[in-house]
Amino acid sequence: MGPEMSLAQNIAKVRADIDGAAAAAGRDPACVTLLAATKTQSSDTIRAAIAAGITACGENRVQELTAHLDDDAYEGAQLHFIGHLQTNKVKYVVGRVDLIHSVSSEKLLRAIAVQADKLELVQNILLEINLAGEESKSGFPPEEALSAARLAAELKGVRLKGLMCIPPAAVRPGDNLPYFQKLRQLAVDITREMLDNRIDMDVLSMGMSGDYQDAVAAGSTCIRLGSALFGPRPPMSLRKD
Ligand SMILES: *Cc1c(COP(=O)(O)O)cnc(C)c1O
Repeated sequence: MGPEMSLAQNIAKVRADIDGAAAAAGRDPACVTLLAATKTQSSDTIRAAIAAGITACGENRVQELTAHLDDDAYEGAQLHFIGHLQTNKVKYVVGRVDLIHSVSSEKLLRAIAVQADKLELVQNILLEINLAGEESKSGFPPEEALSAARLAAELKGVRLKGLMCIPPAAVRPGDNLPYFQKLRQLAVDITREMLDNRIDMDVLSMGMSGDYQDAVAAGSTCIRLGSALFGPRPPMSLRKD
């Protein structure tokens, strides 16, 4: 069985799971984007995923993003940035991707806005929220989310589309449901507080291979899947880049 074959089967399985979780929650499955987290994948694998029906790809690293863009690998799909972004690298990302999920500090938010102004465009962004207060992860603490959203609304180079989270790795089904529910509530609260700002936050980027069904149940509009689509990733130590 070739890789394209198993990719198509994996996509079909995930879609069936999304349909089931959405139906159980009374949601329309069409509101959930299946974003392929393509880190460590080759340009050919990315092309195969798009040919198999993937409509959005998410990259973690500027280096891989640039290499795949040079290859025209994302042709036919949306491109998102989902990884940790350093302020000195925003110039390689702003204006090249449809959505930056991982805006994790005010410094980064301002740097993105400055670069967008320079290019005379508006960059769509999400605020990454560190719900569990994990030191190993980036993101705004939940209690700083509203002030970050207010800042985003003031900066004309960015358009705030919603929130994103990466909760701790789930051990059992259901483990991360409370985090997903919390992110959804945070988005509701921010929208209510900012009614005057004409923000249209309609994206909740949450759910990965181990917990996407819970994320869909809790209202996710974008699940980011790597291993569920492509199989296990090679360990970092074996990576070429
Ligand atoms: C790698 C990655 C994913 C996908 O992880 P899997 O567990 O392989 O599905 C999703 N989001 C982000 C930010 C990632 O870095």
